[in-house]
Amino acid sequence: MSRSAPEDLVALRRDLHRHPEPAWREFYTTARIVDELETRPVDELYVGREVLTDDRMAVPDETDLDAWFERAREAGAREDVLESLAGGYTGAVAVVRRGDGPTVGLRVDIDALPIAESDDGSHAPAAGGYRSETAGYMHACGHDAHATLGIGVIDAIAESDFEGTLKVFFQPSEEVVGGGGPMAESGHLDDVDYLLAVHVGLDHPTGEIVAGIDGFLAVHHFRAAFTGTPAHAGAKPEEGDNAVLAMATAVQNLHGISRHSDGATRVNAGLVGGGTATNIVPEEAFVEGEVRGETTELMEYMRERAVRVLRSAAEMHGCEVEITTEGRAPSARSDDTLVDLVADVGGETAGVESVIRRDSLGGSEDATYLMRRVQEAGGLAAYVNVGTDHPGGHHTGTFDVDEASIPIGVDVLAASIEAIAARRP
Ligand SMILES: [Zn+2]
Repeated sequence: MSRSAPEDLVALRRDLHRHPEPAWREFYTTARIVDELETRPVDELYVGREVLTDDRMAVPDETDLDAWFERAREAGAREDVLESLAGGYTGAVAVVRRGDGPTVGLRVDIDALPIAESDDGSHAPAAGGYRSETAGYMHACGHDAHATLGIGVIDAIAESDFEGTLKVFFQPSEEVVGGGGPMAESGHLDDVDYLLAVHVGLDHPTGEIVAGIDGFLAVHHFRAAFTGTPAHAGAKPEEGDNAVLAMATAVQNLHGISRHSDGATRVNAGLVGGGTATNIVPEEAFVEGEVRGETTELMEYMRERAVRVLRSAAEMHGCEVEITTEGRAPSARSDDTLVDLVADVGGETAGVESVIRRDSLGGSEDATYLMRRVQEAGGLAAYVNVGTDHPGGHHTGTFDVDEASIPIGVDVLAASIEAIAARRP
């Protein structure tokens, strides 16, 4: 038997859970995934720089990357794999070739979040001894389970009658919507005829499957750095150009951008800072924020208005502003024929008690880059949800994955992939 017993998958998920790594710092995680892949019938394995273009967004500075690199090394990540991830080029693509047939892709994301994990005895990872070992970081969105699903599906496909090529995309940096774009453009998607992306939970319980998630808000993350002129706040205030004032003016007015009659839009100034002391007219200030839209066009409308506000606020206070993109993802829609197929297969899979055909995410996801890449080349894509009971909500310290949902997810995804190759919808 080559197939993982569920205990193996649970052990992998717990190991990843103990070592959460945020965007572009998934060094241990990628090395651990490579370890797993090398024991399996994988025909081609691409790692790090081989799976991403240079066009990465929201990459942390070198000091930060180095600290996480070292931490991964200390945790036992393999040196040869680490070398290929230098500079924060994380992630992997595994290819399984099994005769003539279409190329089916599965996209799973692998990054964690800067959230402290609960140490309460009622939180299963705390009680079970696999709580995060990195203070302030946690797999609070189930991406540890997603990486595990990717491995489990390779096992299941190796044992199945699947005919075609399977590509599993272990994508980094979803949480900052930074990894989807550079992976989508890497060339590895170019021959993919069908793509499934997967997420666990999302308020759907264990045993429930959603065949097609839609309602991805297109999103754009930005950072605006304001530069003014410093001056003595008491003696010569008129000689200063106050960068904090420019930033504050921008924050107020970002939230004053008009709604759009075509659909939902969002704006948030989420992180601000600036200045050095009470008696100095501040020279530097910044705001990091995001705009979203129900469609990519609506997001673009918000982005253009936001840029106008940022520039005008700088101008108003005699400051300069530099605006950079920190992350971005378009909207996307799951294709009907794939949704129907996954719903069919899900309904026949052991452990599945309820199948919902479609549901709306109401958030953002950069799997949309990969989905659109495949769709624009004439292929089909769907975003599948595997329900899991989760005590705390996503992105909270008490979030957890019900491990019973992992083998169900593997079965639904593998059976769907096999059916896609056989039926070529
Ligand atoms: Zn997530």
